Amino acid sequence: MSASKGAAREVIAIDGPAASGKSTVSRRVAKGLGYLYVDSGALYRGVTCAALAHGIPGTDTEGVLRCMAEREFAWEVADGAVTFTIDGVRPCAELRTEAVNQNVSPVAAACAVRVQVVEWLRGMLCFGSLVMEGRDIGTKVFPDTPYKFYLDANPEERARRRHGESQEPVSVAEVSASLQRRDTIDRRRAVDPLKVAPDAEVIDSTGMSIDDVVQHILNAIATRRAEST
Ligand code: C5P
Repeated sequence: MSASKGAAREVIAIDGPAASGKSTVSRRVAKGLGYLYVDSGALYRGVTCAALAHGIPGTDTEGVLRCMAEREFAWEVADGAVTFTIDGVRPCAELRTEAVNQNVSPVAAACAVRVQVVEWLRGMLCFGSLVMEGRDIGTKVFPDTPYKFYLDANPEERARRRHGESQEPVSVAEVSASLQRRDTIDRRRAVDPLKVAPDAEVIDSTGMSIDDVVQHILNAIATRRAEST
């Protein structure tokens, strides 16, 4: 990828805590704009998954880094998204297990892991304009984008939403505890913690439909574009 090739392309940054509705909303915004969707959390999950498959827990940063260096991560465009393979295999359901949920935030708190993942994410501009969701997209990965949104919802609603999606026999209370644990690590970590970028628009999606949130973001982007021309 050349820097000039990526320069004309746009990034819509959608950050927020776990289960705030970012994935569904970001996918729909990407479709509405004709941009590619990127789930940055899936990369941290992929790294975690690869480590766990080799018996390396998320807290063993050296082991995780060794595993990252030994595996081959590659990118491809499929179904309107930039996705990835690890040693030629595209991970799917294994990214969302409770074991990965438990281990991913310690993995993502490691500075050297983040440096690598941020480089991967920036490189994805070579595929086209992006709608990228995560925790640090507006603050770290693409701080210069004028399109930044921070999606939130109250903890009870987030736990209910995530419990509805879970494939595992867990209670709402367990899902809630797992989300809170992850949010705490994500907010308190030293490197690029989850926080609202000063120039991001905060959207509290509690009680809002997905359609309403998507339309709100598309309108805000259109307004910002009109203001800048
Ligand atoms: O978005 P998702 O909940 O799948 O992200 C899983 C984890 O990956 C988060 O809890 C966080 O620890 C990490 N993450 C991150 N920075 C991002 C995206 C995800 O640290 N941009």
